[in-house]
This record gives sequence, C-alpha cells and structure tokens, in this order.
Amino acid sequence: MNLQTKIIQLFSSQREEWKLLDDNCNEMLNIEVRSLRWGNDVEVVLQYNPSRFISASAKIDDKSIKERKCFLCAENRPQVQKGIPFLDKYMILCNPYPILENHITIPLHSHVPQLMGKKMSDMLSLTEMLPNYIVFYNGPKCGASAPDHFHFQAGLKQDILLSSENSLRSCLRIESESKEDAEEIFYDVYDFLKFQQPLEEEPMMNIISFMENSKYIIHVFPRRLHRPWQFSAEGKAQLLVSPGALDMAGMFITPRKEDFDRIDRDDIEDIYSQVSRAII
Ligand SMILES: [Zn+2]
Repeated sequence: MNLQTKIIQLFSSQREEWKLLDDNCNEMLNIEVRSLRWGNDVEVVLQYNPSRFISASAKIDDKSIKERKCFLCAENRPQVQKGIPFLDKYMILCNPYPILENHITIPLHSHVPQLMGKKMSDMLSLTEMLPNYIVFYNGPKCGASAPDHFHFQAGLKQDILLSSENSLRSCLRIESESKEDAEEIFYDVYDFLKFQQPLEEEPMMNIISFMENSKYIIHVFPRRLHRPWQFSAEGKAQLLVSPGALDMAGMFITPRKEDFDRIDRDDIEDIYSQVSRAII
C-alpha cells in the first residue's frame, strides 16, 4: 500500500476515535476564504481558521518553551493519536488543528531543535512519496510552534501554494529531475543565505517542496523577521498573523474573524515587506 493511501486510512480511523480531530476536519469543509488580487498575476488567499488561534499566538521564547510539555514527544502526545512510521526515525501524525486537507505533522522521534541540517534528503524522500501533497518546513523563528522538536508538515496541494510568481515577497525556486541535484542546489542556496545571516544558527526561512511533472520543486522563502509589528500591537492596530510557509506562499491564516474581515492589500504588502528578505 502506498503512503498516500495509508494516510487516508489513518485519517479515517483517527477521525472515528478522536473527536477534536474530527470536529476540526469538519470545520475545514466550511472554512471561509477571501481572495485579494494585484492585477492578473498576484493573488493572496485569506483563510479564517479559529482553530489556529493557539498556534498563531503561541509564545515561543526560550522560557515559555522550556516550561511547557513538548506536544511532539511521544510520551506527551494524546493517547488516541496514532501514526505511521517513516524512514525509521519519523512518525506521520494527523494534525488536530488543520490548515490544509489531510494536514499531517511529521516529527522526528528524538527531541532535537528545529534546524534543517542535513535533513533536506528526508524532506525530498517524503515529497516523492506524496505526489498529491506539499511538504513544508518552518524555521525555528519563522512560524514553527515547536522550535525545540524537529518536524516537517504536509497537506494536500492547492494552486495558491505552488506559485513562486508573487512579487510581494522573495522566493527562490529550485527545480530538478534529480533528487540529488535538487538537494545539492538547496545547500548552495542555504550556504548563500547563511552567509547573509551569519549570526543565525540557520538562515531564517520557510521551505515548501512538491513534485511537478516528475520534477522535484523546492521553494525557499528567505525571512528577516518572525512576526510583523501588527502582531504585538494593541487595540485596533493589532493583526494576529504569524507568517509561516503557507502565508509566505500566498495563503494567510487569520484565526480571528475581525482580522479576516479587514486585512486589505496594503496590510499584506506591509507584512510581506517586514518578514520577507530581499535577495538581490
Ligand atoms: Zn519533543
């Protein structure tokens, strides 16, 4: 049985046993979306998703992280949560707070920090086994709500997430028929970004990978800021958006209705200009 079929079966058995997951997957069917356009070429989709409130507003400073139980460690996961082993070192889990259809989280077994290191090969192995999915990675200061426990995420493809043609933010596109070449080019990009941000443990970035016409595609979104000033503003100026890979690709997740209703094109341009890092 291929991995995509196993994941469908995992969702159906987990949804029978786990009400939180089932409720939030049902919510996904009626999720409100709104599209903003810049001419014919650029589009951003807003998604109103109240279940993401906890994740979007998560405190990820060192003290808060040390004081909470890691929700990706096996011993702290809900007993009902089952998974599919991957590469003998990861577990594929249903994400109980989905943003995408069949949203899965893929933590390493061991509790080690969110840093890519040499794991692009693992990311591409997962990508080739999931041709209907995008696989994504949020850097520790770029949207990961568990910066202390390494994990990928994945979910079913949507057109808005596959585009690199959005001039409001930077995106480096890697495309190759060979997995090894794609990996090698990625590490060239990584070294280049590292050179530009020498003080960071790894360059600030989000990554999305997927298969397209038998090619390996990697989109790297270089970052310079975790959250825009609007995130911690008070009163009416506040916008609760905490951009990760999907927001950088073009799908903004807004956990609060008031933000979903009022975010306009100027806000999106302003947020991208703060969090994205120009390359040239
Ligand atoms: Zn952990």
